[in-house]
Amino acid sequence: MDRELLERQLAELPLYACEFIRTDELLFSERVRYICRTECAMYGRSWACPPAVGTVEACRERVMGFEEGLLIATITEVSDIANIEETLATRAPHEEITRQVAELIRAQGLETMTLSTEACAHCAKCTYPDAPCRHPDRMFPCVESHGILVTDLAEKHGIDFMAEGNLVTWFSLILYR
Ligand code: SF4
Repeated sequence: MDRELLERQLAELPLYACEFIRTDELLFSERVRYICRTECAMYGRSWACPPAVGTVEACRERVMGFEEGLLIATITEVSDIANIEETLATRAPHEEITRQVAELIRAQGLETMTLSTEACAHCAKCTYPDAPCRHPDRMFPCVESHGILVTDLAEKHGIDFMAEGNLVTWFSLILYR
């Protein structure tokens, strides 16, 4: 990979943080999957979420097939962080930046695996579980769906994600090989 070229390109994007990582730094936890199962309304409703993504162990094996990746974060200010609609509206621009970063990496001839935020929202109604995913190349499972403790990774790289006030922080992980 031409890191210098990528770093110049990344500097032009509105990223709050951008860190090269190694997958052996990742912490996988069944506890994260437990939270998906017990607290997330999207559990069992999307190809991008558990159980469709497989067990945490299967996810770990897929992730560990890559040695390196890029952790990116965006921060957006909203007028009221308690307003869920306004807060969630900041997600689409983050997903678009994630897609752009993955494209920049692929443009260097590398294969990518992208993990992003929340459940996939490409289709008005997900085909899960009745038919295959309509856009498997554009569907990014969320980082947590793979049992990854993204806050641990952010801490290891000194990213301050405890944004105060009305700031919304999103993370994505783009693995490459
Ligand atoms: S692209 Fe469509 S079918 Fe595939 S996971 Fe997303 S919402 Fe579901």
